[in-house]
Amino acid sequence: MSDIAAPEIAIWQRIESTARRVFSLYGYTEVRTPVLEKQSVFERSLGDTTEVVQKEMYAFEDRGGRRVALRPEGTAGVMRHVASLGQEGEEARLFYLGPMFRGERPAAGRKRQFHQIGAEFIGAPNAAMDVETIALQAHLLREWGLKNFKLHVNTRGLPEDRKKVHESLRALLDPRRGELGEEDQRRIDVNILRVLDSKDEKTRAVVATLPPLTEFMGEGSRSYLRDVMAMLERLELDAQVNPTLIRGLDYYVHTVWEITHPALGAQDALAGGGRYRIAMGSREIEGVGFAMGVERLVMAVQQELGAEAVKAARAPAWLVALGEAAFAENFKLAQALRMRGIGCGLDLTGRSMKAQMRAASRAGAAVVVIRGESEMQKGTFVVKDMATGSQVEVELPELLERLSVSRA
Ligand code: AMP
Repeated sequence: MSDIAAPEIAIWQRIESTARRVFSLYGYTEVRTPVLEKQSVFERSLGDTTEVVQKEMYAFEDRGGRRVALRPEGTAGVMRHVASLGQEGEEARLFYLGPMFRGERPAAGRKRQFHQIGAEFIGAPNAAMDVETIALQAHLLREWGLKNFKLHVNTRGLPEDRKKVHESLRALLDPRRGELGEEDQRRIDVNILRVLDSKDEKTRAVVATLPPLTEFMGEGSRSYLRDVMAMLERLELDAQVNPTLIRGLDYYVHTVWEITHPALGAQDALAGGGRYRIAMGSREIEGVGFAMGVERLVMAVQQELGAEAVKAARAPAWLVALGEAAFAENFKLAQALRMRGIGCGLDLTGRSMKAQMRAASRAGAAVVVIRGESEMQKGTFVVKDMATGSQVEVELPELLERLSVSRA
């Protein structure tokens, strides 16, 4: 769990404000769900055999003896919210951003408190909806300045195909159990699909010889995937079918996707998404959504944009005073400038002129405004341009004019 501060915070803030703007172009509104919820909200909607729920959730009993958990992802809480909306929730488009918690082994790009930006578009299966959602996600990535990402798409098929998919996989993998990694031998019995996206080299060699899952699915599932790929092409979104792409959760139906980025190394998943069917109380909610890890977005942005990623904050003006009377006036002027939206700084501790000038250059000031006895008497200001070293003496209206220009 980390502090997030300057200089990276500038990237975070840009990512978040761009996200808010782009989401609104697609008709999404923000939802802020609690960080702490009843454990059952996550268990029921994510499925209790998933790794996130089984092994990674920060779950505990609160003082009232209630089982609660820190949210490991955003979808479950949003679904609980959507269920509470009744009919209004039937076509909701919602986005969220905020911290998530998973007790994973930390690594580069893998944290225990991390942050996600995600979206949920509620509605029955429809390829156009899935593709619009992917297009929105690609739009966000481009708007953040990313180009080198790759989009991998697959299908989990309809729920009615699931039994056949599982049985066919088991028939293929059971006789080859000994060839798989240890963890994956156990997965054959508890969560067989996860064998397909295992990182274990031994398992991968076996998986490479398997036919794609679509072979075990009905025509409904296959044509849905074809429609999705055709519409992605129509929008000129570069995508690849990846037959071993599974995604961790049980609730997916039809389209699943993942976006990778070369800056991320071993943890190369920048974002994931998919269509789901989630039981929530007496309702079953269908929709499509995605989540992106902000820590990883920041890494990708830093790699692609380099120094451009952290644009220097606007250089402030700096007010320098010679003598107490000038300080008193500058103290008031500073407030007046800030109220007009002009950022400025000044020394509050009565330091020497030299020390004040040093503070100005440390703060990266573009302009220094100097006032001493004689300027006070004349009602003028000496304005020094820190880049060129040139100085002019001006009155208040021109000072304001200059500071507003240097701000823009
Ligand atoms: P998931 O909900 O597992 O599909 O995760 C969605 C995205 O969140 C991933 O693609 C990552 O970008 C990010 N993510 C997931 N787990 C972590 C973590 N422990 N630390 C940082 N980012 C994560």
